[in-house]
Amino acid sequence: LEANVYKGRFAPSPTGPLHAGSLVAALASWLDARAHNGQWLVRIEDVDTPRCVPGADQRILQQLAACGLQPDEPPAYQSQRSHLYQQALERLVAQGLAYPCACTRQDIALALAATGQARQRHGELVYPGTCRHGLNGRAARAWRFLTLNSASNMPLATVQRSQQAINLIASSKPKNTTWHDRRLGEQTQNVSREVGDFILRRADGLWAYQLAVVVDDAAQGITHIVRGEDLADNTARQILLQRALGLAQPLYLHTPLVLGVNGEKLSKQNGARALDTDRPLALLETAGKTLGLELPAESVQAWLAGAVLQWRQIHRLKPHH
Ligand code: GLU
Repeated sequence: LEANVYKGRFAPSPTGPLHAGSLVAALASWLDARAHNGQWLVRIEDVDTPRCVPGADQRILQQLAACGLQPDEPPAYQSQRSHLYQQALERLVAQGLAYPCACTRQDIALALAATGQARQRHGELVYPGTCRHGLNGRAARAWRFLTLNSASNMPLATVQRSQQAINLIASSKPKNTTWHDRRLGEQTQNVSREVGDFILRRADGLWAYQLAVVVDDAAQGITHIVRGEDLADNTARQILLQRALGLAQPLYLHTPLVLGVNGEKLSKQNGARALDTDRPLALLETAGKTLGLELPAESVQAWLAGAVLQWRQIHRLKPHH
């Protein structure tokens, strides 16, 4: 890769300060950018406003700075980018790839019960596609993406009008979406069957993570996504959106998770403590171990410089000068 071609990012939700787990994702994305002589951005993902904690964004930026992780551009805030998400939704609607949905959670549960095949994924009901064929006079609540699966193989012109898209669905079998992860290898998901037509804009008017993240990664020219493994499951959905919107597909690397005392992903509920930014070197050493990095160093800057070299070796990247 040429210098300056690489653009990476760390995209925290400001729901609280960083903990040992989120620092691993931040560090990995920074190291991968530096190891490629690339740029590293921070994007504050504050679309889910009810979950955001005032001041958490500033706290996160301070914690990153204490660990020597400085973004190359001022951070972007998703709350200021609604117009971009709106444009993307309108484009999907015009292509017949997004549709309004009137279903409440209870409607979905009832529809699933009626078919006798209630499916769940991470506690969420898999949407049975009730409103694909229209609202039947009910009021629209949310917007959903039509998981055609085969959208990638289909020229956009053939899905221009909604009715055509719906006919295509009727005749097309759900297909797998396959992608490559630099650490996990080949990944496959049948989004239609395993997730269903997912939400783009919620009933409360908030933009869904899936749409916002895809639009922003493309608008910011992100070439490499490095983030925690807990997010790997979203990637197939994001790839379907990229294809539908004609956006480039970044490369993906999902990093190992830090586990809490109960063996689940570290969170406030299972033992995550506030990071002691008075001892940043110790924080980096701990985060580095999760990423397979082990090196002695006397200062934050020396540790980071050594870690970039180790990262290149581990990930077989060519040395840069
Ligand atoms: N904002 C998301 C989170 O904190 C991460 C988004 C991403 O890296 O794609 O879980």
